[in-house]
Amino acid sequence: MRRAALLLVLLVPAAHAAEKADRIFINGRIWTGDPGRPRVEALAVRDTKILAVGSTSDVRALAEKGTDVVDLQGRFACPGFIDAHLHFMGGALSLDALRLDGATSLAEVEKHIRDYARAHPDTAWIAGEGWTYGAFPGGMPTLAQLEAIVPDRLVFLRSYDGHTAWVSALALAKAGITRATTDPPGGAILRDTQGDATGILKESAVRLVSQLVPTPAPFEKYKAFRKGLELAASYGLTSVHQASFDEEDLKIVEQVLDERGLKVRFYASVPMVQAPPAETLARYDELRKKHVGPLLRFGAVKGFVDGVVESRTAAMFEPYAAGGTGLPRWTQEDLDRTVALYDKAGYQVFLHAIGDRAIAMALSAYEQAAKANGTRGRRHRIEHIEVPRPEDLPRFKALGVIASTQALFANPDQNHLEVYLPTLGPVRAARAMPFKAIDDAGAVQAFGSDWPVFSCEVLRGIYCAVTRTTPEGTPAGGWEPGNRISAEAALRHFTRDAAFAGREDDVKGTLAPGKLADLVVLSDDILAIPSAGLLKTRVLLTVLGGQDTYRAKELPWRSTPAR
Ligand SMILES: [Zn+2]
Repeated sequence: MRRAALLLVLLVPAAHAAEKADRIFINGRIWTGDPGRPRVEALAVRDTKILAVGSTSDVRALAEKGTDVVDLQGRFACPGFIDAHLHFMGGALSLDALRLDGATSLAEVEKHIRDYARAHPDTAWIAGEGWTYGAFPGGMPTLAQLEAIVPDRLVFLRSYDGHTAWVSALALAKAGITRATTDPPGGAILRDTQGDATGILKESAVRLVSQLVPTPAPFEKYKAFRKGLELAASYGLTSVHQASFDEEDLKIVEQVLDERGLKVRFYASVPMVQAPPAETLARYDELRKKHVGPLLRFGAVKGFVDGVVESRTAAMFEPYAAGGTGLPRWTQEDLDRTVALYDKAGYQVFLHAIGDRAIAMALSAYEQAAKANGTRGRRHRIEHIEVPRPEDLPRFKALGVIASTQALFANPDQNHLEVYLPTLGPVRAARAMPFKAIDDAGAVQAFGSDWPVFSCEVLRGIYCAVTRTTPEGTPAGGWEPGNRISAEAALRHFTRDAAFAGREDDVKGTLAPGKLADLVVLSDDILAIPSAGLLKTRVLLTVLGGQDTYRAKELPWRSTPAR
């Protein structure tokens, strides 16, 4: 009897010790994203996961000698941000490239290109990106404009959306593009009345020149990738969904993973190809088995149903203001068959669809796949969804299809107001980027950035979704203000809903016991301040699996070990 009692005494402290925290965050205003317990003061971390959430006194009780105590001093914290659609390596490489975004006139574009050419007199190619259609008179640049800025250089400049290229005469010559060259399938070489190329290549024709531009050496990419990770962590990102794939880039990601340097979790997609050869599917399966998380995970395929609005390649039911309806890249039958093939194999499918016709086709393909395979809960996604028909919105909820949209696509800048909306015509322009209507239809909506198309700075994205104005606050009251959403809805789309959209809501997206300790601490309570304050709000601390991946220099507190 005495022995048994002694054993009990020894066992209780041991069992209790197993539940002590490595780290606690106390005295915060913490939004958990968990509807059952939306607001707490404190959170405890053990190893890489959340041990408990609750009041400061409850969580303090989990500290022991050596537990790291972070006093949030009333600051706001929430689940780490998740960007549901970006192109990470492209974004990382763009940090040091010739960037033309922000240039709103031909004169500004000229200055950027001229300065870059002067600073890089010996590079074989002047390669850059980010120009917007609205910066040019008539909504499209010309060969003559480029030759006037940098005569006799090889120049390749991709538009901000990646679907159009502006190239020089030497570049056209090097690619062998003459009057006799026919347009490649799914692309166009713009020509003047004489049939000569005007320096503008659309869609698949971009490749005629892009394939000649030397890609950065692996070590350059490695350095850029590391820099991109630092930037993402400084924006409060803890997870991203990759919307493109490259075997060489994967080697770099794997290397950084091995070096324990991956500051952001990756959910990766591979290209959805029609009638994939057996070796392609075998490779996809190999990746899916090799990388199962929590830092790198495969499981999605991505395909394109159409192009983009500005170059009138997004597929529409009704003609654009200047004519043409765009053309889907697939017949419905081919799309149905291909989606069903990947659905059957357990993949989550991402379909880029921007025009109303492409969106309707994507929804139908998902409906057919579920029927043909008897599958449920695949959480297939449509990417962008810029101009859906109102009657198609309820289909998202009915079919369990996720709306993967990009908050900054509603940024009403010059390109948006002067080119994008007029291209659509007034009826469709009024219902573009309908974030509120998508929410109201009951769909799960996940936010992303499409970086480098737009910045992956999440707080800017939230600001845009909430105000539908530019950072300067124009137009007053917001563009199509009926589709503004609350800061809480926007935050949910960047956390819980994005986790759901990556089929990872069991391990992330909310702050709850057992989930990964991925969180971000901000300078202000973004759910309480006026919307203009969102742009002044700063990320103070980003935590991934319990470890800091970013600390602001201004961080007003230090964490201290408990005594
Ligand atoms: Zn994209």
